[in-house]
Amino acid sequence: MNLSVELNLGHLRHGRFSARSQTQLDAYLCALAKKELIVEIWTVQKEGITQPLSCRLSLAQWEGQEPVIVVEGITGSEIASSELTSGFGRSYHREDNCIDDICYEQFFRTSSAPMLLIDPEEDGRIVDANLAAIRFYGYPPEEMLQKHTWEINVMGRDVLPVMNEVAKLPGGHKPLSFMHKLSDGSTRYVQTYASPVILNGKRLMLGIIHDITEQKRLEQELQQQALQDPLTGLWNRRQFLHLVQSAHTQTERYGQNYSMLMIDADLFKNINDQYGHRKGDEVLLLLARTLESRVRESDSVCRWGGEEFVILLPQTNLDGALSMAESLRQTVEQFSRPDFPHITVSIGVAECQTGEDVDTLFKRVDEALYHAKASGRNRVASG
Ligand code: GH3
Ligand code: MG
Ligand code: MG
Repeated sequence: MNLSVELNLGHLRHGRFSARSQTQLDAYLCALAKKELIVEIWTVQKEGITQPLSCRLSLAQWEGQEPVIVVEGITGSEIASSELTSGFGRSYHREDNCIDDICYEQFFRTSSAPMLLIDPEEDGRIVDANLAAIRFYGYPPEEMLQKHTWEINVMGRDVLPVMNEVAKLPGGHKPLSFMHKLSDGSTRYVQTYASPVILNGKRLMLGIIHDITEQKRLEQELQQQALQDPLTGLWNRRQFLHLVQSAHTQTERYGQNYSMLMIDADLFKNINDQYGHRKGDEVLLLLARTLESRVRESDSVCRWGGEEFVILLPQTNLDGALSMAESLRQTVEQFSRPDFPHITVSIGVAECQTGEDVDTLFKRVDEALYHAKASGRNRVASG
């Protein structure tokens, strides 16, 4: 389809009163093919005056030709009776400036972003909701217009002081993040953009709701991934150092000692050589799950690198750490499964000493591991 004509429509689509949801007309093709109702507001010159004009878009095709987008200007009375406005909300008209009213009405009705018109003086009563908001929240229109904003906000009435502050502002404000409740009981992360509007001489607030749930989920997933080892899903070295630092601060503040275990799979190179690298990976995964399942909830297991793991044991002295290490060593040694390599681990153990820094502790636990290896492997040694 040739939409080069769009270039010439620039002044109509980008004018003072223009409101549209897509930059390029061809972005509507999919929706138009599904016969969705699309109305844009253009800025036109009529009798020498700049005016808004609502335009309904549709798709048409003539025999032997490519489909084209047809744009029809619609007048105010047509708009009122069209399916666009049926059913929802009430009309607000200001006698002194009809152009603004038409613009507001159309902007509100046709926006694909959920919008709520709120009365801050009545505890945030929802005075009007556009079609996108009705769809988003899922309440029947009549029910939606019975509600207050605090009823759709998980903060409940606690949100009212926030709303009152925003209502005092002369213009728009930075978006605020909330969690909103939908009719099916689910919750969504939203950012709300509210600005004051005066309609019928009354000061109300126009809130635009932006659903950021998916964005939040991806952010959380990325944050999580940045802290995890991809093979085992255990904490990575970076996160472990952060956890050790917190434990260290606790020790300095409250004197509660913590201990550390450094675990290294014995002769792991042989396992790779004998069974292949892939099987080696499976063994590391199994080792990770074994360690994880044997420690307390407050302990943190990390893949330090390669076939080495470290465990942070908060509020644990050397005796406690040694018995945990011995129990882990035995569990790994006793583990047997057909077609699975037999493995053992060597473990270095150290308890953080008063006044000791983290680097020195790491050095001691590493030395302890070295001793465990040097004295024959499949052992626990303290440093
Ligand atoms: P030691 O008892 O002295 O620790 O002997 P080792 O063979 O375990 O020690 P070495 O450091 O010589 O070899 C470590 C081996 O671990 C070599 C390396 O290929 C293997 N390895 C490290 N990371 C991975 C991994 O992600 N997957 C697999 N399959 N093997 C790994
Ligand atoms: Mg190693
Ligand atoms: Mg090893």
